[in-house]
Amino acid sequence: MNDTNTPSAAKYDLPKAYEFEEVEQRWYEYWLEHKTFSAQMEPGRPAFSIVIPPPNVTGVLHIGHALNNTLQDLLTRYHRMKGDNTLWVPGTDHAGIATQNVVERQLAAEKTTRHELGRDKFIERVWQWRTDKGGAIIQQLKRMGASCDWDRERFTMDEGLSKAVREVFVRLFNEGLIYKGDYIVNWCPRCLTALADDEVEHDPTHGKLYHLRYPYADGSGSVVIATTRPETMLGDTAVAVHPDDERYAGLDKIGIRLPIVDRIIPVVFDHHVQRDFGTGALKVTPSHDRDDYEIGIRHNLERVKVMDERGIMNENAGKYAGLDRFACRTQIVKDLDEQGLLVKIDDYEHAVGKCYRCATVIEPTTSKQWFVSVRPLADKAVAAVREGRIKLYPDTWYNTFYAWMDNIRDWCISRQIWWGHRIPAWNCLECGHLIVASEDPGFCPRCGKIHLAQEHDVLDTWFSSALWPFSTLGWPENTKELQTFYPTSVLITSFDILFFWVARMMMMGLYFMDEVPFRDVYLHALVRDKHGKKMSKSTGNVIDPLDMIKQYGTDAFRFTLTAFAAQGREIRMDEERIDGYRRFINKLWNAARFAQMHIKESEPGIVTVADSPADLALPHRWILSRTNATIRDVRKALDGYDFNLIASAIYQFTWHEFCDWYVEWIKADLFSDDADKREQARGVLLCVLEHILKMLHPICPFVTEEIWSQLPGTRGTIMLEPFPEERPFWENAEAEQSMQLLMEVITAIRTIRSEADVHPSAKVQAVLICPDAAKRELLRSFSSSICAMTRAESLDIAESGAVPDDAAHALVSGIEVVVPLKELIDVEAELDKLARERKVLEQDLQRVRGKLGNENFLSNAPPDVVAKEQAKLAELESRLAKNEESRGRLGKER
Ligand SMILES: [Zn+2]
Ligand SMILES: [Zn+2]
Repeated sequence: MNDTNTPSAAKYDLPKAYEFEEVEQRWYEYWLEHKTFSAQMEPGRPAFSIVIPPPNVTGVLHIGHALNNTLQDLLTRYHRMKGDNTLWVPGTDHAGIATQNVVERQLAAEKTTRHELGRDKFIERVWQWRTDKGGAIIQQLKRMGASCDWDRERFTMDEGLSKAVREVFVRLFNEGLIYKGDYIVNWCPRCLTALADDEVEHDPTHGKLYHLRYPYADGSGSVVIATTRPETMLGDTAVAVHPDDERYAGLDKIGIRLPIVDRIIPVVFDHHVQRDFGTGALKVTPSHDRDDYEIGIRHNLERVKVMDERGIMNENAGKYAGLDRFACRTQIVKDLDEQGLLVKIDDYEHAVGKCYRCATVIEPTTSKQWFVSVRPLADKAVAAVREGRIKLYPDTWYNTFYAWMDNIRDWCISRQIWWGHRIPAWNCLECGHLIVASEDPGFCPRCGKIHLAQEHDVLDTWFSSALWPFSTLGWPENTKELQTFYPTSVLITSFDILFFWVARMMMMGLYFMDEVPFRDVYLHALVRDKHGKKMSKSTGNVIDPLDMIKQYGTDAFRFTLTAFAAQGREIRMDEERIDGYRRFINKLWNAARFAQMHIKESEPGIVTVADSPADLALPHRWILSRTNATIRDVRKALDGYDFNLIASAIYQFTWHEFCDWYVEWIKADLFSDDADKREQARGVLLCVLEHILKMLHPICPFVTEEIWSQLPGTRGTIMLEPFPEERPFWENAEAEQSMQLLMEVITAIRTIRSEADVHPSAKVQAVLICPDAAKRELLRSFSSSICAMTRAESLDIAESGAVPDDAAHALVSGIEVVVPLKELIDVEAELDKLARERKVLEQDLQRVRGKLGNENFLSNAPPDVVAKEQAKLAELESRLAKNEESRGRLGKER
């Protein structure tokens, strides 16, 4: 009857230890071979889809990817088990500059350059690199257990996606939403490309602030301006002051004589000038500063560019032409000093923009670039979020999102590199006509000539990834995939790309599909080390996912990531916790081995006993009620993206209810001669274990699959089993209450034993004094279980009575639990020990309280020292309370 399809079809005893490496490999191969990840598109079923945030093709799996993809896989597996038409689209991003740089480094090692190679040959090299080396990360995602539909893997430069890119470009251009214009951009003089704002890193730098004197044009006075980049003064075309600044009233009629250049420039009044910064006068260089560029537009100022694309001073720099910008700075400061126009130089700490690829100082500069005019697109995205058509998790992101979208600027989409989607625009070399088309044009539609030159620039990498949710589903064709899976259900991504990726997908999706690209956006936290520090190679605190997988197994690693994924902005990852969850998996493994020994061969009836809970003994009714509650909690957490709660609900239930109590409790029944008892225990044990495995499968796919395949009966893959649904007829408050009482009594006896250092093998005689008749009845019917679980040789249950001397006692739920200790331990010695401990504790407490009551200490000690003392205080107080409890239990005050 066994299903011969599964890789462990021949049932064997589960090995003693869980050998994750072998199991993981075997099951992943099985899933791939049987195409269990393939999307189904059956009519009438709900759809669930996710598009992967495409990792860079140059990427290597880091802990952020590991977290991100674990959460995606978890949801995908959950919905697949629920029977939804489920699709997780995988793929990679061509990563323009990053990939180009990798190949350029290769060329450099071969002592050549892309320019020597030429554009076409270079692009060939990049494709070759992609074939050989690209996509290593895809293999690593498979190690993580990702259940992507790999037959649908996409690449942002593949044929279909390239077609979508052109289509979008042409339509936006024709509708006036793409334009070419002069604009101030972040320019890297080394990479020779414009950079997006988010590609510029701002490093705090020790710099200089130069105070320069600009004379009035009529010689009647002067104004002092401050700048960190004096060389840009050659391109100044105005001085700006605040209109209400009385120091400069009337100066607009006089003007300024720009030193060295000897050009008269106007003084303009602008409300954006800060009156209290320096002298309140600002030099304005519209061609080389972003704010100045805006002032220039407001006042219609001339633009003078004084550097070329490599950061070398150009002909507008007069005698400085040919000098590097930094050499020019030195020279100009010297010259101004000689002319008496250098007032002073201050040390100045400020943020300098640097290229994120090569760390070269950015030169803001004007150039001809392509732009998307985003306002109309952004408005649609904001409306969709305001109307709740897209929800953000955690909801703390809404305000940030709105604020950013309100201030959004036009999006510069052209990049001066070779690797990427080349802009589909051609200039007619005969008549100058600009042609934008989705197919390469053969001739100019205006003059009919064939001499056309395509734009050299390529599109920003984010342009193609902005289309990802619909381009990967086949757009612009109206495919069945698009009809079934768009809008996608949820996007799971890191919050640091909310704006340059998530927001742009919203804009493009709403514009081209007239529908949101995803219903929910879950922004996960950044993973840091256990002290909250950013992981970095130089700090040496990087946790490498592949190492963790090798050491602890994929499931333990995935469980840890899930357990840590609370909705916040920071996750502190601690390797010890991974080891802790490895032990959890071993605990489950051992419970499963135990179960397997007892339920090897299927017996008629055992599968269905859980269907009639009323006929079952209390522990079974209890565990079924708890199973039902856990299913409810887990599903609720899954549907609300409370990932850490999914993990904790399953963990608590499996370890502290199923393994610690239930399995212990039913041991006697499993070995019983009473066939009915045996059948109940086997049936419910199997049933609950199956539910645990199914609930745990989305987080820990491998171990659950392996155990599942070894349980009796016909078994296919667990990943296609229905996800557990609530079974309200299992809910049983009375059973939970009764078991709670029994567990409290047992725990009380165990605590007394351990605190009084009773030898583990020693038998005790326990007395329960319980005035409540119903509780007495309950205790009586489970007295043999209580004895078995506490190593008690007798249990007296009385309505009333006094606690004898030399007995420890505790009160739980109105029951006095009494354990005579005479002959078991030396009560006097025990009490002496406790009294000595109390004395030490009290002395320590006095010392710490004294410290914390000392104003001097509190105001002078570093905060972490104070915190340490406070923690010590709490620890001592709790130990003292425990000591008092123990002394109380031994029945005497001393
Ligand atoms: Zn650069
Ligand atoms: Zn033409």
